[in-house]
Amino acid sequence: MKKVAVIGCGSYMDSGDGCPGEWRCLKAASLGDGNFEEPSQVVAFVKCECPGRALATNVNMAMKLSEIKPDAIYLSSCCVKAMPGCPYSDPEEKAQNIEKKTGIKVVLGTHDYH
Ligand code: SF4
Repeated sequence: MKKVAVIGCGSYMDSGDGCPGEWRCLKAASLGDGNFEEPSQVVAFVKCECPGRALATNVNMAMKLSEIKPDAIYLSSCCVKAMPGCPYSDPEEKAQNIEKKTGIKVVLGTHDYH
């Protein structure tokens, strides 16, 4: 089974009317739905915090502390598609930074659930 890390948008998760990270990404990963090619084990869930400056460092730290290197890192659908979008950086920029810092492929988006 593939091991994955998921990154959620903290602003969206804390807004109260969005997904607080409790099920959609986790369901998609466990069933192999959405952008997950197969059922996958979530080994880390990292919450981005505005303005996102520490995101790549925090993902790296989560990997080090868990001592599990994921096969892929997923930027959640709320990081990639939520409207209004992130005012600080676009998803591609975030993905590039994380890939550079971790050496692990970043996938844009997790699921299409509503
Ligand atoms: S920096 Fe952007 S992606 Fe990160 S929590 Fe803030 S709004 Fe969400």
